[in-house]
Amino acid sequence: MMSSVQNMVGVIELADADILLDRHGRLTLEDFQKAFCQRLEDWLRPRDEMHYLGDNRVCVTLRGVGSSGELALATAKLESIFKNPHYQFGRPVQLGFRAGFASVEGDRQSEETLRQANLALREARANSSNYQVYTPHAETRADNQRKLLQSLEEALARGEIQLYYQPKVQTMYRSLAGAEALMRWRKPDGELVPAGDFIPVAEEHEIIRPLTWWAIKTAVARLARWPEDLTIAVNIAPQLLLDDQILAVVEDALAIHCVSPQRLVLEVTERIMVGSPTTMLAQLARLRLIGVQVSLDDFGTGYSSLSYFRDLPVDEIKIDCCFVRNMLECGKDEAIVKAVIDLAHNFSLKVVAEGVETEAVAERLKELGCDLIQGYFFDRPMPPDAFEASYGIHPPGLSDTQALRDHALM
Ligand code: C2E
Ligand code: CA
Ligand code: CA
Repeated sequence: MMSSVQNMVGVIELADADILLDRHGRLTLEDFQKAFCQRLEDWLRPRDEMHYLGDNRVCVTLRGVGSSGELALATAKLESIFKNPHYQFGRPVQLGFRAGFASVEGDRQSEETLRQANLALREARANSSNYQVYTPHAETRADNQRKLLQSLEEALARGEIQLYYQPKVQTMYRSLAGAEALMRWRKPDGELVPAGDFIPVAEEHEIIRPLTWWAIKTAVARLARWPEDLTIAVNIAPQLLLDDQILAVVEDALAIHCVSPQRLVLEVTERIMVGSPTTMLAQLARLRLIGVQVSLDDFGTGYSSLSYFRDLPVDEIKIDCCFVRNMLECGKDEAIVKAVIDLAHNFSLKVVAEGVETEAVAERLKELGCDLIQGYFFDRPMPPDAFEASYGIHPPGLSDTQALRDHALM
């Protein structure tokens, strides 16, 4: 009996179309779309098929490609086609693709195959890889994410989300400069879920908006009860800088609690450079015009180039803990820490080193002139009551759940 031929169905998109749109404008994007489709046509063999799905995406059927090895060869060829830049008005622009594939027997392609390929594409985006093949594991992961998001929505509504506070300390005098607010999820059974277990999923979905607006309001309410010289930093996902509401949320919270804007620090990561940098930088500049401070988090791990650094509307740089952790044992790490401190100071920016775990590292950072330090050496993130008790802050009692209730009335 003849076994039927194995085909691979793929959904392929023009990678980072939003960046291209931001940098080059909509009319030019159409030109990129044409070039993208042309490259795919050059890649496909006569027996393959392709049709446009809209939204910078096409669907292809690769006939007779059944194994992962055959697919790897095919995608390697596509990668080499995309290596050549596209020339626009004589200037080279690098185009890329991102793809999800699902294998199917013969011509049994269906809505289900397309759904699987789309799921694989989502995985490719999440892993920043050029392509991904559908596996049942992806299904489980997607299912787990759906469940997590649903319970997160309920958790926010039920007041199970809390802000913990970790001190930021002046390196020179070891005095308290402020705190970073870090999210925790206290489940009804008492389990405390760390930010790393739910924030990355939340950041890929709409739920990050209400979570962040809640965090800003809660942190500002807390600031109102702390001494005037202390700041609180709130983490902001890059895409929220594209959200016009952020200005109103920040301004309203500060006005309602009569808190000076410079006491609120917004921590953004270098990922702001990947999305729509022009728009995001403009939004940061607007926020700074209100008077709030902006801190560039995880510095050194991302994608920012020095040319962006020059015009960056920020007040502070946080050197990522991966350079700080072993800086005494690794000369190269220490050289990076030193270079970042010098660079930041030349631009009149403050520098924070995060992930300081030992006295020796704290001392070395002091010698290098680092302004602020944060890490387990001083304290781990703590609930607000414990933080206030540790640092001798005595505000009238206010729980974050109470703050949430107050803000629901805003
Ligand atoms: P991040 O902004 O880089 O925060 C620092 C993380 O390092 C925190 O983890 C903190 O607990 C941990 N840390 C602090 N000192 C030390 C140290 O000395 N050694 C080590 N090994 N770790 C240290 P956490 O709280 O689990 O948060 C993880 C990430 O989740 C944060 O990284 C931030 O990206 C994100 N996140 C936390 N809260 C929020 C939030 O409210 N909104 C958003 N969008 N993201 C948040
Ligand atoms: Ca942070
Ligand atoms: Ca960080």
